[in-house]
Amino acid sequence: MLENYIKYLVFITNKLKVFFERQKEYICCKKGCSLCCRNAEFPYSKMEVKFLLSGFLLLDKETQAKIEENLQKTADKKKEFKGDVFLYDCPFLIGGSCSVYDYRGVVCRTFGLMENVKDKNSRVPFCAYKGLNYSQVLDEDKNQLSEEKFKESGFKEEPLSFNIGYKFLTSEDFEKKFNFEFGEKLPLIDWFMDMEGKKYE
Ligand code: SF4
Ligand code: SF4
Repeated sequence: MLENYIKYLVFITNKLKVFFERQKEYICCKKGCSLCCRNAEFPYSKMEVKFLLSGFLLLDKETQAKIEENLQKTADKKKEFKGDVFLYDCPFLIGGSCSVYDYRGVVCRTFGLMENVKDKNSRVPFCAYKGLNYSQVLDEDKNQLSEEKFKESGFKEEPLSFNIGYKFLTSEDFEKKFNFEFGEKLPLIDWFMDMEGKKYE
């Protein structure tokens, strides 16, 4: 099953590479920018967590210990949280970088692109509002892309949105095509709520 999931990951990662390459004029992502790994929910399926943990097990003991500490602290905060949606910094973010980059989940691979949302305006990544991706063509007051700004930008490629929603990318169609199951989907931290004596094998 994990082998087939890896085949699926190679497939979508190659697709996403093409999308990023096409939109490179709008993409400001660089090492050290980790806003997209902070203050969010991070949906993860059982299969994605399994793969993520296979990457975790390859890390040195010191990094593993830091991640475990982050997981414990985040889980404790969630237990005390009284609101609707618990947002947190990803516990696998170490020193401003993803410690399990090659093993990261599906949602992490889409960070930074513009999502095509059915019957609505395209969803620009949140970092457009922080002067990053697509900010060059965003009209913040109208909360939409600006044709005028696009013309002024002198960019060759139009800003494009893609079908990169988590629901779509983890749909049954992909499970059938690659012959595996994602399994249950939860916010990443929910997989680690009971850290006592946890073993990752
Ligand atoms: S797994 Fe890595 S890429 Fe994904 S949110 Fe966490 S730190 Fe960021
Ligand atoms: S998607 Fe946005 S927040 Fe994330 S690394 Fe790229 S520019 Fe930074």
